[in-house]
Amino acid sequence: MKRIIIIGGGVAGLGAAYKIRRAASEGHGVDFFLIEKDPRLGGKILTEIIRDPFGKGVFIVDGGPDCFLTEKPACHRIAKLLGIFEDELPTDDSKRGTLIFSQGKLHPLPDGIMMFAPTKFLPFITTQLFSWSGKIRMVMDLFIPPRKIKPGESYDETLESFVVRRMGRECLDRLAEPLVGGVHASDPRTMSLAATFPRLLEMEQAYGSLIRAFLVARKKVEEMRKKYPPKPGQKPRTFFTSFIKGMQQLTDRMAEASGPEKMRLGVSVTSLQIGHQNRWRVHLSDGTFLEGDGVILATESWAAEPLIRPIDREMADALAEIPWTSSATISFAFDEKEVGLDLNAFGVLCPMVEGRSILAATYSSSKWPGRAPPGKVLLRGFVGGPHNQEVLERSDEELVQIVLSEFHEILGLNPKAKPIFFRLYRWPRGMPQYTLGHLERVELIENHSAQISGLALAGGSYRGVGIPNCIESGERAVSKILNEWGIDLAEDHIEEKRYY
Ligand SMILES: Cc1cc2nc3c(=O)[nH]c(=O)nc-3n(C[C@H](O)[C@H](O)[C@H](O)COP(=O)(O)OP(=O)(O)OC[C@H]3O[C@@H](n4cnc5c(N)ncnc54)[C@H](O)[C@@H]3O)c2cc1C
Repeated sequence: MKRIIIIGGGVAGLGAAYKIRRAASEGHGVDFFLIEKDPRLGGKILTEIIRDPFGKGVFIVDGGPDCFLTEKPACHRIAKLLGIFEDELPTDDSKRGTLIFSQGKLHPLPDGIMMFAPTKFLPFITTQLFSWSGKIRMVMDLFIPPRKIKPGESYDETLESFVVRRMGRECLDRLAEPLVGGVHASDPRTMSLAATFPRLLEMEQAYGSLIRAFLVARKKVEEMRKKYPPKPGQKPRTFFTSFIKGMQQLTDRMAEASGPEKMRLGVSVTSLQIGHQNRWRVHLSDGTFLEGDGVILATESWAAEPLIRPIDREMADALAEIPWTSSATISFAFDEKEVGLDLNAFGVLCPMVEGRSILAATYSSSKWPGRAPPGKVLLRGFVGGPHNQEVLERSDEELVQIVLSEFHEILGLNPKAKPIFFRLYRWPRGMPQYTLGHLERVELIENHSAQISGLALAGGSYRGVGIPNCIESGERAVSKILNEWGIDLAEDHIEEKRYY
């Protein structure tokens, strides 16, 4: 029996654990042991279910991610295996709509905007989100030739450079930065498109214009919807998906199905050693150690770096070069009668250029059915991001006041509305920044770990921060090590399929 020690109990580490569990139940002689430094599993995925202190029912509060991208198959595949596919929760699209705060006013995101390209004439021409000159500059995208690339050449560009070149500064400041950069809580001046949205670079080359490319994409989506209408009784396929009991339902079930008896919480890994015959020794903060035949490092890159340094200095240097930003979410529960807001929206985006503390506000109880009891409201603020790291040095009380006052000024929340409760979740160094050069750094990390028998890295630091990407990275890490041992999993040959 060979044993893999998994370091980190976030969704990537759990993805690895669950895959090893499945390999073992297929008859392969493999097992795992997982070490997590926090007293809980799930990492950034954290849900609290809170009783309404003044009535029946519960609030479901997600402190980290509140959803995953529906089009990516990994979460659906795992949910199916775990028997919780039926618990997937689509957004309530009867309230769909995003507002953008710009120059002191809230503007509805014009219908037909895809990423940041307008694909419907009337909503674009009538929106007050952009000035006339801004709109004309955006439409120039149709005539600006694509960047010249030699055949086979790969290149990269920042989000800022790409959007300003094609559609102008106003489009970047009011639309692309909050919509596209916001997903990664990233600075558009440094964010690598090749590492985050390579499709945009490809679209420019293929169609010569982003507007043209997205018009084609919209047509394809509409054709697919006609061709595959939802079957009677089938859940609607919305852009984002969550789970009825919050995102932690996924990681809780992954842990349960993998074997909680093989997981130790509240103790951290302090160093790694490779001993005789590629046996790994993993030292723990309580002075004990574990031995195994392989190690999966499913921590943040900054936590992996000191563990890797004594083993491979160059790899550690590349890990150290991945920057991170901190953020926090604050959820408030209110009585619906008090808020004085039109709650027919998913929330508000606040562009960096507005210089506010909040990056976004989510109307959680509008976006997701069942997040608050009837007559109650759950609102969530997202603060931090690359331009506003200082705000996170404020005390909890100050942070709550800052977010509440921005909810009053930006959303129009009634200043007399009293929160029933609030929950603040801080995520120090919680979001990796995929800056220019990220792909080269990741390639170096992967090439070096390929040379070290029994070692693999996984997690959101490398090839995608989204939850489905993290699960897949954990699974790839398992395959890397098992392949070295001559174990070829049948599962690796199953193609990812569409689930809707
Ligand atoms: C506020 C916020 C909102 C987000 N929203 C979304 C969203 O809506 N949708 C989406 O798809 N993604 C979202 N993301 C991104 C996504 O949540 C993360 O990319 C993903 O959860 C990371 O999973 P992971 O397993 O790679 O890392 P983590 O969840 O960070 O897990 C790593 C674990 O390693 C442990 N660890 C570290 N060092 C050690 C050590 N030495 N010994 C033992 N254990 C150690 C840590 O304690 C941690 O639990 C969001 C992220 C944040 C911060």
